[in-house]
Amino acid sequence: MRANFAIEHAFVDFMPDVLEERTLYISIEFATASHRCFCGCGAEVVTPISPVGWQLTFDGETVSLSPSVGSWSLPCQSHYWIRRDMVEWAPGMTAEEIAGVRRRDDFDRVRHYGAYEAPAKVVEPPKVEVTLPSKPRGFFAWLADLFR
Ligand SMILES: [Zn+2]
Repeated sequence: MRANFAIEHAFVDFMPDVLEERTLYISIEFATASHRCFCGCGAEVVTPISPVGWQLTFDGETVSLSPSVGSWSLPCQSHYWIRRDMVEWAPGMTAEEIAGVRRRDDFDRVRHYGAYEAPAKVVEPPKVEVTLPSKPRGFFAWLADLFR
């Protein structure tokens, strides 16, 4: 179990190109929060703020996000809560539990938007969008470019 730790939050108009570690960026205008995965893997995690996505609480000093952030699509599979400018690690989840969360998210979505808007097939739950850190380009990639 990893130790919980404090983070910074920053209200911004636009997301900066480079996100600082241990900082939660929040754009009210775009109803979005972004951060670099708090496990330190470098992935960019985007949490849309909406009735069926994440809800943001600002108490005047600190921010909280609800529900927890589960980056199932990342190799690190990080799962934590952001509560009052603190990262609180969640216990590991089994694949079955993850499926349960996804089903509950489907249910919330249908309840909010009404069944008529729910796609007939698989409804994707609110999901973080992630960008893995770009790898430094190697010599061979450089070489291959020369022959394009
Ligand atoms: Zn990570």
